Amino acid sequence: MSHSFDIVIVGGGILGTSISYYLSCLNKSKKIAVIEQAHNVAFHTSGRNTGKVHAPYLYNPEKKKLFAKAAFRGYEMWEEYAALRNLPFKKDGVIEVALEQKDIRVLEKYLKWGKQNGLEDSDIKLMSNTELRKIEPEIKCEAALYVYKDGSADYSIFTDSVMKDSQANGTKLILDTRVTRIKKEHGKWEITLDGEHKIFAKFLINAAGGEAVNIAHDVGVAEEFTDVHFRGEYWRAPKEYHDLTKTSVYSVPEFPDYPFLDPHWIIRVDGRCEIGPNAVPVFSPYGYSKTENIKEFVPKMLEMLGSGARKAIFDKQFQKLAINEIQSSMSKSAMIGRVKRFLPKINADKITEKGTAGIRSSVIDGDGKFVPDAILIDDDMSFHILNYNSPGATGALPFSAHIVNHLDMVGLVKIEDPNAQCGPWKFGSIIDGL
Ligand SMILES: Cc1cc2nc3c(=O)[nH]c(=O)nc-3n(C[C@H](O)[C@H](O)[C@H](O)COP(=O)(O)OP(=O)(O)OC[C@H]3O[C@@H](n4cnc5c(N)ncnc54)[C@H](O)[C@@H]3O)c2cc1C
Repeated sequence: MSHSFDIVIVGGGILGTSISYYLSCLNKSKKIAVIEQAHNVAFHTSGRNTGKVHAPYLYNPEKKKLFAKAAFRGYEMWEEYAALRNLPFKKDGVIEVALEQKDIRVLEKYLKWGKQNGLEDSDIKLMSNTELRKIEPEIKCEAALYVYKDGSADYSIFTDSVMKDSQANGTKLILDTRVTRIKKEHGKWEITLDGEHKIFAKFLINAAGGEAVNIAHDVGVAEEFTDVHFRGEYWRAPKEYHDLTKTSVYSVPEFPDYPFLDPHWIIRVDGRCEIGPNAVPVFSPYGYSKTENIKEFVPKMLEMLGSGARKAIFDKQFQKLAINEIQSSMSKSAMIGRVKRFLPKINADKITEKGTAGIRSSVIDGDGKFVPDAILIDDDMSFHILNYNSPGATGALPFSAHIVNHLDMVGLVKIEDPNAQCGPWKFGSIIDGL
């Protein structure tokens, strides 16, 4: 293995692989590496999510501008990419339901946001409960927002394919290898792998998902931020429920500032149905098991108490929702009960199999507030992406193009061929709409 690279990307999730894809397509002469500690790409959040290709109706165009734009463009791009590589992609829509009269106002707001974010009249429709019942007789609600331009995919398969395309352009993928230390030495990065081997890089991109904040801190940036991890758990529904609805169903969130908290009725791209995710606070980005959480409890608590997260921990609303979520993790019927409110036919006793949990890492600023959008940080020899959360998988292709273009604009990584054709797209045409 060569030990020197022009660019090293830490993180083989959907973001790191997509960035490597454009960089390798636009810069044929640069040596690029992606380092991933797991055995395969998309092993963590990118392969453990709900698999929705989201229409941008949930995202406030002011506060989540970047995510909203990337989701809007991402839908078309994944559709085109799936067609090119013959990968599963279903345009199956999503229904957002109002369970109480007061929630109808939220649906109206989502309709407005959706249109502000680029959806057309034919992509999204507000319906009365009578209108919806004609299409989906099992759903109980006060009103619904039917979003036709929403889809389902398997992001593990997408990430794997994007990585293969990037490798075909010359990117080196280094798997089963953990970045344990990063140090600036004689104008280069000296990156220690697994505590022993060293490689060198002129430029570093931090796309490390749940570890992105730690890596940024290691190189002395983003010190005002910390993060909190939430485990999203799923339950698999038995076959007899697979035809309960034609479309996935979300409900208006109980806590509008935390829209990821309310479990949904999910129809996956292969037709399997699941309930989830909840969002249980855990102490590590890999806190899937009790053992990992116990191990990380003390260091994470100390880190949080010494940072802005301290304010969040003592916030009454945060405490209430954390208790709710812990309860829904301990009690299957508590979690399934949240979906039963709009799908009363579901019987928790018939649901016995757990799905694959995924972990979300939300960044908290110095004032103890959750940061709503992704955080992009330029440093002289590195670039950091923090808080890359939902709908991060949907937006990964345009978002990564935006990052690569940004790096070129600020002079951190010069693009050799800005007119290059990357897969089905001319690079310039992707960034035009962002
Ligand atoms: C429960 C849940 C449901 C979601 N549902 C959806 C959805 O339906 N639609 C949607 O668009 N988005 C969804 N999301 C969001 C989406 O999955 C994420 O935004 C996206 O996957 C983040 O990708 P990433 O590449 O930044 O992170 P990751 O996939 O976590 O990748 C980061 C990688 O970096 C590696 N890494 C970290 N540190 C090191 C190190 N020191 N050395 C080597 N490797 C390292 C990790 O092993 C990891 O593989 C969901 C998220 C969650 C948690």
